[in-house]
Amino acid sequence: MIEDAVEKFLSAHAGQRFCHTCLSRRLDVGYDDILAATRRLQQRPAFKVDGGRCSSCRRIRIVVVGAPGEPVTSIVRCSICKAGIARPADLVFLPGAGVAHRNCAREGL
Ligand SMILES: [Zn+2]
Ligand SMILES: [Zn+2]
Repeated sequence: MIEDAVEKFLSAHAGQRFCHTCLSRRLDVGYDDILAATRRLQQRPAFKVDGGRCSSCRRIRIVVVGAPGEPVTSIVRCSICKAGIARPADLVFLPGAGVAHRNCAREGL
């Protein structure tokens, strides 16, 4: 099961966050499979999928955190309205200008 591999990897790197690209690379699993696995993992309280800086590639991306009891401290903020972006589904990348809410980005255009 890919979930198990992801879970094991995140437990071994507790407190670190990884984007789907890095997870896919590190675990040698396809990007889509990682995406599906993390989507299932985030149903569990010990896992959190969020916006943030990847511990591996240092880019601001959707990251997966697997650290039981450790709150995610750095929520990515929208560069348009400055509010935190709580749901990964709401996050969009602006060309050269960071990240924003999907709705904010649409209104800004
Ligand atoms: Zn990464
Ligand atoms: Zn916004």
